[in-house]
Amino acid sequence: MRILVVEDEIGLAEAICAILRREGYFVDMANDGKSGLEKALSSNFDCIILDIMLPKMNGLDVLTFLRVKEIETPVLLLTAKSEVDDKIKGLDCGADDYLTKPFVTGELLARIRAMTRRIGVSVELTPKFGDISLDMKKGELMCGANSVILGRKEFQMMEMLVSNGTSIVTKEDFVTKVWGTGDDSDYNNVEVYISFLRKKLSMLHSKVSIKTRRGIGYCLEGGTK
Ligand code: CA
Repeated sequence: MRILVVEDEIGLAEAICAILRREGYFVDMANDGKSGLEKALSSNFDCIILDIMLPKMNGLDVLTFLRVKEIETPVLLLTAKSEVDDKIKGLDCGADDYLTKPFVTGELLARIRAMTRRIGVSVELTPKFGDISLDMKKGELMCGANSVILGRKEFQMMEMLVSNGTSIVTKEDFVTKVWGTGDDSDYNNVEVYISFLRKKLSMLHSKVSIKTRRGIGYCLEGGTK
């Protein structure tokens, strides 16, 4: 499950991301409203945690824009105690829930679970393709009785490949979602990491392989998804 965290207090944003990663969620972060909106529009998230008071574009405007664009991703608004009016406005704008800062970890996780359950998002923690599956909590790639731990970037890439199956994931998708940049050197990194993943698939004796679509990207093959 992929979650976008849009929060300008860097310390808080990083703490939320760390908590969510530990729970096995895939997390992306934006530190202002404008880049949050761009990320929300360009990727498929299962849930967005959105602060209201944000630089460049406030959270309520971000939310309104998303709903106008018919993006129905569940949104959990973060509000300060003093922002009661914003809370009401937020729910009117199409937020699914809100959480008042400061909050405790358990409450945040419970709200996310409740929200995604309500919306019917699958909280499948072991995405599968063919004979392979991913353990989102342990960060492992599994095939039959064999498993191997993947590095953070390897795991993120594999998760993108597994969730897209035989559809192509472009190099650009990997660079923006895994490296978070658009540097030319990261395009080479994608190739290097794909070769790591291929080695691990063969180590596991999986029938699944990563196919190169020259000049476009990669997809999986050998599955019966
Ligand atoms: Ca803020």
